[in-house]
Amino acid sequence: MRFLVTGGAGFIGSAVCRHLAVNPEHFVLNVDKLTYAGNLASLKSIQDFPNYCFVKADIRDGERISALLRRYDINIVMHLAAESHVDRSIDGPEAFIETNIVGTFRLLKAARGYFESLSGGQREHFRFHHISTDEVYGDLPFDSGMFTEDSPYTPSSPYSASKAASDHLVRAWGETYGLPVVLSNCSNNYGPFHFPEKLIPLVTLNGLAELSLPVYGKGENVRDWLFVEDHAAALEKVAMGGKIGESYNIGGNEERQNIQVVKTICALLDEKHPRANGESYSELIEMVSDRPGHDRRYAIDASKIKRDLGWEPSINFEDGLSKTIDWYLQNEWWWGPIRERSGYERLGVLKGKN
Ligand code: NAD
Repeated sequence: MRFLVTGGAGFIGSAVCRHLAVNPEHFVLNVDKLTYAGNLASLKSIQDFPNYCFVKADIRDGERISALLRRYDINIVMHLAAESHVDRSIDGPEAFIETNIVGTFRLLKAARGYFESLSGGQREHFRFHHISTDEVYGDLPFDSGMFTEDSPYTPSSPYSASKAASDHLVRAWGETYGLPVVLSNCSNNYGPFHFPEKLIPLVTLNGLAELSLPVYGKGENVRDWLFVEDHAAALEKVAMGGKIGESYNIGGNEERQNIQVVKTICALLDEKHPRANGESYSELIEMVSDRPGHDRRYAIDASKIKRDLGWEPSINFEDGLSKTIDWYLQNEWWWGPIRERSGYERLGVLKGKN
Protein backbone atom coordinates (compact mmCIF):
# COMPACT_ATOMS: atom_id res chain seq x y z
CA MET A 1 0.00 0.00 0.00
CA ARG A 2 1.09 3.60 -0.62
CA PHE A 3 0.47 5.75 2.47
CA LEU A 4 0.43 9.50 2.94
CA VAL A 5 0.88 10.10 6.69
CA THR A 6 0.18 13.66 7.87
CA GLY A 7 1.97 14.73 11.06
CA GLY A 8 4.54 11.96 10.61
CA ALA A 9 7.23 13.94 12.42
CA GLY A 10 5.15 14.05 15.62
CA PHE A 11 5.04 11.57 18.47
CA ILE A 12 2.45 9.09 17.14
CA GLY A 13 2.96 9.91 13.44
CA SER A 14 6.66 9.04 13.65
CA ALA A 15 5.80 5.72 15.33
CA VAL A 16 3.35 5.06 12.48
CA CYS A 17 5.99 5.88 9.82
CA ARG A 18 8.59 3.65 11.55
CA HIS A 19 6.02 0.86 11.88
CA LEU A 20 4.88 1.02 8.23
CA ALA A 21 8.28 1.59 6.61
CA VAL A 22 9.84 -1.62 7.96
CA ASN A 23 7.43 -3.45 5.65
CA PRO A 24 9.05 -3.19 2.18
CA GLU A 25 5.63 -3.74 0.60
CA HIS A 26 4.52 -0.34 1.86
CA PHE A 27 5.54 3.11 0.63
CA VAL A 28 5.32 5.92 3.20
CA LEU A 29 5.12 9.62 2.36
CA ASN A 30 5.40 11.71 5.52
CA VAL A 31 3.88 15.20 5.13
CA ASP A 32 4.52 17.49 8.08
CA LYS A 33 4.79 21.24 8.63
CA LEU A 34 7.42 20.75 11.37
CA THR A 35 5.85 22.86 14.09
CA TYR A 36 7.52 22.95 17.53
CA ALA A 37 6.21 19.36 18.01
CA GLY A 38 7.60 17.95 14.75
CA ASN A 39 11.06 16.42 14.84
CA LEU A 40 12.78 14.61 11.98
CA ALA A 41 15.25 13.11 14.46
CA SER A 42 12.42 10.74 15.45
CA LEU A 43 12.64 9.23 11.94
CA LYS A 44 16.41 8.66 11.91
CA SER A 45 16.01 4.86 11.83
CA ILE A 46 14.07 4.95 8.53
CA GLN A 47 15.23 8.18 6.87
CA ASP A 48 17.35 6.35 4.28
CA PHE A 49 14.83 3.62 3.48
CA PRO A 50 13.93 3.59 -0.24
CA ASN A 51 10.22 3.22 0.63
CA TYR A 52 10.14 6.33 2.87
CA CYS A 53 9.98 9.97 1.85
CA PHE A 54 9.50 13.24 3.77
CA VAL A 55 7.93 16.43 2.39
CA LYS A 56 7.62 19.58 4.46
CA ALA A 57 4.12 20.98 3.84
CA ASP A 58 1.14 22.45 5.64
CA ILE A 59 -2.07 20.40 5.43
CA ARG A 60 -3.95 23.66 4.89
CA ASP A 61 -2.20 24.00 1.52
CA GLY A 62 -4.80 22.06 -0.48
CA GLU A 63 -3.10 22.45 -3.86
CA ARG A 64 0.16 21.09 -2.54
CA ILE A 65 -1.58 18.13 -0.94
CA SER A 66 -3.53 17.40 -4.15
CA ALA A 67 -0.28 17.40 -6.12
CA LEU A 68 1.39 15.05 -3.62
CA LEU A 69 -1.54 12.62 -3.69
CA ARG A 70 -1.28 12.42 -7.49
CA ARG A 71 2.50 12.40 -7.73
CA TYR A 72 2.91 9.54 -5.24
CA ASP A 73 -0.18 7.50 -6.29
CA ILE A 74 -1.45 7.36 -2.72
CA ASN A 75 -3.92 4.63 -1.66
CA ILE A 76 -4.32 5.46 2.03
CA VAL A 77 -4.25 8.82 3.81
CA MET A 78 -3.56 8.52 7.54
CA HIS A 79 -4.32 11.92 9.02
CA LEU A 80 -2.50 12.61 12.30
CA ALA A 81 -1.31 16.21 11.84
CA ALA A 82 -2.75 18.33 14.62
CA GLU A 83 -2.09 20.75 17.39
CA SER A 84 -2.26 18.27 20.25
CA HIS A 85 -1.50 19.84 23.64
CA VAL A 86 -4.55 20.67 25.78
CA ASP A 87 -2.78 23.35 27.86
CA ARG A 88 -1.62 25.17 24.74
CA SER A 89 -5.21 25.05 23.41
CA ILE A 90 -6.42 26.85 26.55
CA ASP A 91 -3.78 29.58 26.20
CA GLY A 92 -4.04 29.95 22.40
CA PRO A 93 -6.94 28.14 20.72
CA GLU A 94 -6.52 29.73 17.27
CA ALA A 95 -3.82 27.38 15.99
CA PHE A 96 -6.06 24.46 17.00
CA ILE A 97 -8.96 25.81 14.93
CA GLU A 98 -6.63 26.46 11.99
CA THR A 99 -4.88 23.09 11.85
CA ASN A 100 -7.37 20.70 13.38
CA ILE A 101 -10.51 22.07 11.74
CA VAL A 102 -9.51 24.16 8.69
CA GLY A 103 -6.55 21.84 7.97
CA THR A 104 -8.75 18.74 8.10
CA PHE A 105 -11.29 20.44 5.81
CA ARG A 106 -8.61 21.30 3.21
CA LEU A 107 -7.20 17.78 3.39
CA LEU A 108 -10.66 16.26 2.90
CA LYS A 109 -11.25 18.55 -0.08
CA ALA A 110 -7.96 17.49 -1.66
CA ALA A 111 -8.63 13.81 -0.91
CA ARG A 112 -12.10 14.02 -2.44
CA GLY A 113 -10.79 15.61 -5.66
CA TYR A 114 -8.08 12.96 -5.90
CA PHE A 115 -10.49 10.10 -5.12
CA GLU A 116 -12.91 11.25 -7.82
CA SER A 117 -10.09 11.35 -10.37
CA LEU A 118 -9.21 7.67 -9.76
CA SER A 119 -10.39 4.79 -11.93
CA GLY A 120 -12.94 2.31 -10.49
CA GLY A 121 -10.28 -0.26 -9.57
CA GLN A 122 -8.07 2.32 -7.85
CA ARG A 123 -11.04 3.72 -5.92
CA GLU A 124 -11.67 0.36 -4.29
CA HIS A 125 -8.34 0.57 -2.45
CA PHE A 126 -8.58 4.21 -1.36
CA ARG A 127 -9.12 5.07 2.32
CA PHE A 128 -9.02 8.28 4.35
CA HIS A 129 -8.23 7.36 7.96
CA HIS A 130 -8.71 10.09 10.55
CA ILE A 131 -6.80 9.59 13.80
CA SER A 132 -8.58 11.12 16.79
CA THR A 133 -8.80 11.07 20.54
CA ASP A 134 -11.05 9.74 23.30
CA GLU A 135 -11.20 13.32 24.61
CA VAL A 136 -14.02 14.05 22.12
CA TYR A 137 -16.32 12.04 24.40
CA GLY A 138 -15.71 14.39 27.34
CA ASP A 139 -15.75 13.41 30.95
CA LEU A 140 -16.62 10.17 32.79
CA PRO A 141 -17.47 9.74 36.48
CA PHE A 142 -14.63 8.26 38.54
CA ASP A 143 -16.34 5.02 39.33
CA SER A 144 -18.17 3.67 36.29
CA GLY A 145 -18.66 3.55 32.54
CA MET A 146 -16.44 3.43 29.50
CA PHE A 147 -16.50 5.21 26.15
CA THR A 148 -17.83 3.11 23.28
CA GLU A 149 -18.02 4.10 19.62
CA ASP A 150 -21.63 5.17 20.29
CA SER A 151 -20.86 7.50 23.20
CA PRO A 152 -22.10 11.06 22.59
CA TYR A 153 -19.54 13.77 21.86
CA THR A 154 -19.18 16.27 24.74
CA PRO A 155 -15.69 17.79 24.40
CA SER A 156 -14.46 20.07 27.22
CA SER A 157 -11.31 21.83 25.96
CA PRO A 158 -10.58 23.83 22.80
CA TYR A 159 -8.32 20.91 21.77
CA SER A 160 -10.99 18.23 22.15
CA ALA A 161 -13.65 20.49 20.59
CA SER A 162 -11.42 20.98 17.54
CA LYS A 163 -10.83 17.22 17.26
CA ALA A 164 -14.59 16.59 17.63
CA ALA A 165 -15.22 19.08 14.81
CA SER A 166 -12.69 17.32 12.59
CA ASP A 167 -14.29 13.92 13.32
CA HIS A 168 -17.66 15.35 12.25
CA LEU A 169 -16.17 16.80 9.06
CA VAL A 170 -14.61 13.45 8.16
CA ARG A 171 -17.92 11.62 8.70
CA ALA A 172 -19.73 14.27 6.64
CA TRP A 173 -17.31 13.79 3.72
CA GLY A 174 -18.07 10.09 3.91
CA GLU A 175 -21.85 10.50 4.06
CA THR A 176 -22.21 13.44 1.66
CA TYR A 177 -19.51 12.86 -0.95
CA GLY A 178 -18.94 9.13 -0.64
CA LEU A 179 -15.29 9.50 0.39
CA PRO A 180 -14.24 6.13 1.90
CA VAL A 181 -13.46 7.25 5.44
CA VAL A 182 -12.61 5.38 8.61
CA LEU A 183 -11.94 6.88 12.06
CA SER A 184 -10.23 5.85 15.27
CA ASN A 185 -10.34 7.42 18.74
CA CYS A 186 -7.52 6.52 21.09
CA SER A 187 -6.66 7.00 24.73
CA ASN A 188 -3.43 8.61 26.06
CA ASN A 189 -0.28 7.35 24.36
CA TYR A 190 3.15 7.14 25.94
CA GLY A 191 6.53 5.81 24.83
CA PRO A 192 9.80 6.84 23.15
CA PHE A 193 10.06 10.16 21.23
CA HIS A 194 7.27 11.79 23.30
CA PHE A 195 7.64 15.59 23.35
CA PRO A 196 8.83 16.69 26.81
CA GLU A 197 5.79 18.86 27.55
CA LYS A 198 3.55 15.79 28.12
CA LEU A 199 3.12 14.21 31.55
CA ILE A 200 5.36 11.13 31.36
CA PRO A 201 8.43 12.68 29.65
CA LEU A 202 7.98 15.91 31.62
CA VAL A 203 8.08 14.11 34.95
CA THR A 204 10.95 11.84 33.88
CA LEU A 205 13.14 14.67 32.58
CA ASN A 206 12.27 17.14 35.34
CA GLY A 207 13.23 14.42 37.81
CA LEU A 208 16.59 13.83 36.12
CA ALA A 209 17.18 17.61 36.18
CA GLU A 210 16.22 17.81 39.92
CA LEU A 211 13.28 20.09 39.07
CA SER A 212 9.81 19.91 40.62
CA LEU A 213 7.34 17.33 39.29
CA PRO A 214 4.09 19.26 38.79
CA VAL A 215 0.76 17.42 39.17
CA TYR A 216 -2.59 19.10 38.56
CA GLY A 217 -5.11 19.43 41.42
CA LYS A 218 -5.10 16.40 43.69
CA GLY A 219 -3.70 14.17 40.92
CA GLU A 220 -6.89 12.11 40.98
CA ASN A 221 -7.75 12.48 37.30
CA VAL A 222 -7.75 9.11 35.57
CA ARG A 223 -6.41 8.36 32.09
CA ASP A 224 -6.20 5.11 30.15
CA TRP A 225 -2.66 4.55 28.80
CA LEU A 226 -1.48 2.83 25.62
CA PHE A 227 2.09 2.22 24.45
CA VAL A 228 2.60 4.22 21.25
CA GLU A 229 3.91 1.26 19.22
CA ASP A 230 0.73 -0.67 20.05
CA HIS A 231 -1.26 2.31 18.80
CA ALA A 232 0.75 2.34 15.54
CA ALA A 233 -0.01 -1.37 15.01
CA ALA A 234 -3.72 -0.74 15.70
CA LEU A 235 -3.76 2.15 13.22
CA GLU A 236 -2.34 -0.01 10.44
CA LYS A 237 -5.13 -2.53 11.09
CA VAL A 238 -7.82 0.18 11.01
CA ALA A 239 -6.38 1.80 7.86
CA MET A 240 -6.08 -1.51 5.98
CA GLY A 241 -9.05 -3.47 7.34
CA GLY A 242 -11.47 -1.03 8.98
CA LYS A 243 -14.99 -0.96 7.57
CA ILE A 244 -15.77 2.17 5.56
CA GLY A 245 -17.77 4.74 7.53
CA GLU A 246 -17.02 3.12 10.90
CA SER A 247 -14.98 4.27 13.87
CA TYR A 248 -12.85 2.20 16.22
CA ASN A 249 -11.97 2.97 19.83
CA ILE A 250 -8.38 2.09 20.76
CA GLY A 251 -7.15 1.82 24.35
CA GLY A 252 -4.85 -0.11 26.63
CA ASN A 253 -7.38 -0.93 29.38
CA GLU A 254 -4.77 0.53 31.75
CA GLU A 255 -6.53 3.18 33.82
CA ARG A 256 -4.30 5.05 36.25
CA GLN A 257 -4.71 8.21 38.35
CA ASN A 258 -2.16 10.87 37.33
CA ILE A 259 -0.59 10.75 40.79
CA GLN A 260 -0.16 6.96 40.46
CA VAL A 261 1.60 7.47 37.11
CA VAL A 262 3.95 10.05 38.63
CA LYS A 263 4.72 7.85 41.66
CA THR A 264 5.43 4.86 39.39
CA ILE A 265 7.86 6.97 37.34
CA CYS A 266 9.55 8.07 40.59
CA ALA A 267 9.90 4.45 41.75
CA LEU A 268 11.37 3.41 38.39
CA LEU A 269 13.82 6.33 38.43
CA ASP A 270 14.80 5.52 42.05
CA GLU A 271 15.74 2.04 40.84
CA LYS A 272 17.34 2.89 37.48
CA HIS A 273 19.00 6.25 38.24
CA PRO A 274 19.19 6.96 42.02
CA ARG A 275 19.43 10.60 43.10
CA ALA A 276 22.81 11.83 44.35
CA ASN A 277 21.28 12.82 47.74
CA GLY A 278 19.79 9.34 48.22
CA GLU A 279 16.20 10.65 48.47
CA SER A 280 13.31 9.37 46.35
CA TYR A 281 12.29 11.35 43.27
CA SER A 282 8.83 11.48 44.84
CA GLU A 283 10.16 14.22 47.16
CA LEU A 284 10.11 16.48 44.07
CA ILE A 285 6.34 16.10 43.49
CA GLU A 286 4.50 19.42 43.63
CA MET A 287 0.71 19.72 43.47
CA VAL A 288 -0.26 22.74 41.31
CA SER A 289 -3.65 24.42 40.80
CA ASP A 290 -5.94 22.44 38.53
CA ARG A 291 -6.43 23.05 34.81
CA PRO A 292 -9.76 24.73 33.94
CA GLY A 293 -12.27 22.21 32.52
CA HIS A 294 -10.04 19.29 33.53
CA ASP A 295 -11.91 16.08 32.64
CA ARG A 296 -12.00 13.65 35.55
CA ARG A 297 -11.69 10.35 33.81
CA TYR A 298 -11.37 8.79 30.36
CA ALA A 299 -11.79 5.06 29.82
CA ILE A 300 -12.00 3.26 26.51
CA ASP A 301 -13.95 0.15 25.63
CA ALA A 302 -11.73 -1.30 22.87
CA SER A 303 -13.72 -4.49 22.37
CA LYS A 304 -14.78 -3.62 18.80
CA ILE A 305 -11.26 -3.38 17.38
CA LYS A 306 -10.30 -6.58 19.23
CA ARG A 307 -13.32 -8.45 17.91
CA ASP A 308 -13.42 -7.11 14.32
CA LEU A 309 -9.75 -6.49 13.53
CA GLY A 310 -7.97 -8.84 15.95
CA TRP A 311 -5.87 -6.12 17.61
CA GLU A 312 -4.70 -6.24 21.23
CA PRO A 313 -2.06 -4.29 23.14
CA SER A 314 1.22 -6.22 23.39
CA ILE A 315 2.62 -4.63 26.56
CA ASN A 316 1.14 -3.65 29.94
CA PHE A 317 1.53 -0.18 31.45
CA GLU A 318 4.25 -0.92 34.02
CA ASP A 319 6.46 -2.76 31.48
CA GLY A 320 5.83 -0.10 28.84
CA LEU A 321 6.69 2.65 31.31
CA SER A 322 9.90 0.90 32.34
CA LYS A 323 10.86 0.58 28.64
CA THR A 324 10.03 4.26 28.09
CA ILE A 325 12.16 5.44 30.99
CA ASP A 326 15.07 3.29 29.78
CA TRP A 327 14.67 4.99 26.39
CA TYR A 328 14.82 8.49 27.91
CA LEU A 329 17.86 7.52 29.99
CA GLN A 330 19.65 6.30 26.85
CA ASN A 331 18.60 8.95 24.34
CA GLU A 332 19.56 12.38 25.59
CA TRP A 333 20.73 13.13 22.00
CA TRP A 334 17.00 13.30 21.14
CA TRP A 335 15.50 15.18 24.10
CA GLY A 336 18.50 17.34 25.15
CA PRO A 337 18.23 19.81 22.24
CA ILE A 338 14.44 20.11 22.74
CA ARG A 339 14.90 21.05 26.40
CA GLU A 340 17.58 23.58 25.45
CA ARG A 341 15.38 25.11 22.78
CA SER A 342 12.07 25.41 24.56
CA GLY A 343 13.11 25.97 28.17
CA TYR A 344 9.89 24.02 28.74
CA GLU A 345 10.28 23.65 32.47
CA ARG A 346 9.87 27.40 32.89
CA LEU A 347 6.73 27.76 30.79
CA GLY A 348 3.53 28.21 32.78
CA VAL A 349 1.48 26.26 30.24
CA LEU A 350 3.58 23.15 30.48
CA LYS A 351 2.42 21.72 33.74
CA GLY A 352 2.37 18.09 32.70
CA LYS A 353 -0.69 16.79 31.01
CA ASN A 354 -1.08 14.40 28.16
P1 NAD B 1 2.20 15.75 18.08
O1 NAD B 1 1.86 17.12 18.56
O2 NAD B 1 3.34 15.04 18.68
O3 NAD B 1 2.46 15.79 16.50
C1 NAD B 1 1.68 16.54 15.61
C2 NAD B 1 2.44 16.67 14.30
O4 NAD B 1 1.61 17.39 13.37
C3 NAD B 1 3.76 17.45 14.43
O5 NAD B 1 4.81 16.75 13.79
C4 NAD B 1 3.47 18.78 13.72
O6 NAD B 1 4.62 19.34 13.10
C5 NAD B 1 2.42 18.35 12.69
N1 NAD B 1 1.56 19.46 12.27
C6 NAD B 1 0.91 20.34 13.08
N2 NAD B 1 0.23 21.22 12.33
C7 NAD B 1 0.43 20.88 11.02
C8 NAD B 1 -0.03 21.39 9.78
N3 NAD B 1 -0.83 22.47 9.73
N4 NAD B 1 0.36 20.78 8.64
C9 NAD B 1 1.19 19.69 8.68
N5 NAD B 1 1.66 19.17 9.82
C10 NAD B 1 1.28 19.76 10.98
O7 NAD B 1 0.85 14.92 18.22
P2 NAD B 1 0.66 13.38 18.58
O8 NAD B 1 0.61 13.23 20.04
O9 NAD B 1 1.60 12.56 17.78
O10 NAD B 1 -0.82 13.14 18.04
C11 NAD B 1 -1.05 12.78 16.67
C12 NAD B 1 -2.53 12.67 16.43
O11 NAD B 1 -3.08 11.68 17.29
C13 NAD B 1 -3.30 13.96 16.70
O12 NAD B 1 -4.28 14.09 15.71
C14 NAD B 1 -3.92 13.72 18.06
O13 NAD B 1 -5.12 14.43 18.18
C15 NAD B 1 -4.14 12.23 18.04
N6 NAD B 1 -4.12 11.57 19.35
C16 NAD B 1 -3.07 11.76 20.22
C17 NAD B 1 -3.06 11.07 21.44
C18 NAD B 1 -1.89 11.20 22.40
O14 NAD B 1 -1.95 10.61 23.49
N7 NAD B 1 -0.82 11.90 22.06
C19 NAD B 1 -4.10 10.22 21.76
C20 NAD B 1 -5.15 10.04 20.86
C21 NAD B 1 -5.14 10.72 19.66
